[in-house]
Amino acid sequence: MGRSITITLPEGTEEYAGDIWSFVNRMLVKLQANTHKGHWNEVDVLTALKGLEGEVKELEDAIYNEDADSVHREAADVANFAMILSSVLDRKLKENLFSEGAQLNLFESTPTLQWIDRVRHDLKYKYDDPHLREFESVVSDTQLYNLKRMLESVS
Ligand SMILES: [Mg+2]
Repeated sequence: MGRSITITLPEGTEEYAGDIWSFVNRMLVKLQANTHKGHWNEVDVLTALKGLEGEVKELEDAIYNEDADSVHREAADVANFAMILSSVLDRKLKENLFSEGAQLNLFESTPTLQWIDRVRHDLKYKYDDPHLREFESVVSDTQLYNLKRMLESVS
């Protein structure tokens, strides 16, 4: 028998009790099915975001191609990844890696930082093109990060 938790519905949300009950139970079924993957303690924000995006795609696919049960299961996966992302943020706030209220540092993930550094280095030194050097000096880390994600999505 598992551990029980109690959720108190804030005033005005009582009418959602049935939906919340059903949905949280679906989340728990999927969490239990994935316990072999271990806790998400070591997951970073960008990895959680990627997982969430992957689950949104699976949900979309289920809506178009599969039955209602599959759609419910994928909706629960989306919620679980959103919860994981939120949980990762909580952990980082506790570790003071982010400060409350400050903008998130999305570049915490070392491979991402290394990739951005390598692209900057290549643009600066590898290609003897003044336009690329100019591009390197005006492009932001956020733009490079978005470029990386775009490249990953087509590879
Ligand atoms: Mg899924």
